[in-house]
Amino acid sequence: VLGKSLVELAEVPEPEPSGDFVVVKIMASSICGTERHAYEEGLTPAHSEAGVVNLGHEAAGVVWKTSTSSRLKVGDRVNLFASITHCGRCRYCVTGRWILCQGEPRILGAGFHAEYVKIREDFCLPLAHDIPFEIGALFGDVLGTALHAIRRLRLSALDTVLVMGQGPIGLASSLICQFFGAKVVAADTNPKRLELAKACGAKETFLVGEQNMAASLAELAGMSGIDVAIDCAGAQASR
Ligand SMILES: [Zn+2]
Ligand SMILES: [Zn+2]
Repeated sequence: VLGKSLVELAEVPEPEPSGDFVVVKIMASSICGTERHAYEEGLTPAHSEAGVVNLGHEAAGVVWKTSTSSRLKVGDRVNLFASITHCGRCRYCVTGRWILCQGEPRILGAGFHAEYVKIREDFCLPLAHDIPFEIGALFGDVLGTALHAIRRLRLSALDTVLVMGQGPIGLASSLICQFFGAKVVAADTNPKRLELAKACGAKETFLVGEQNMAASLAELAGMSGIDVAIDCAGAQASR
């Protein structure tokens, strides 16, 4: 993405592996809201300053070439969960919060919308042979973001959870909450998304806009009411 409504296909040299960096052949790379914003509104100053135009950061592929990697071999199927690399030495890295790394360099030059990507081996998660690449590409951002938030909620199987918005993160939240045994009430303005929520295990669905929200939610939630609410809509109204 070069700017507002501006996309270009570029020819670049194939990367070579070095040290613990391997080269992965990308089989699927999904388009995140970040890229949609960049396309519709233009790149952020941070992207422009870093010279990053290939924004892909949710992908799956096959290890293509290795150097001295100890964890991966050619042919391994992997999920790539971040196009940011970390130094491994700063206070954030050593406490496991590498996403906040203050070392250099932070952002890899090339994102995942490429045929081949050079990436550190610890940013490749093994992908089982029976998981399609298109699904494997969603494990990092989509499932990972939802799982992290839900773990912090310390959900109990007796809880009733309201998940506002059934986009990718909302659907992942509904899926994970029901996996933990909670009762999920899924809300969205789009009936199609509510059908998907049902398929992800939501017990109740709620079409926003057509009903008296407070009363309908109280009815759907039952005696104990809503214990936890997760906002995945990002709209002012859902707060
Ligand atoms: Zn993303
Ligand atoms: Zn660091």
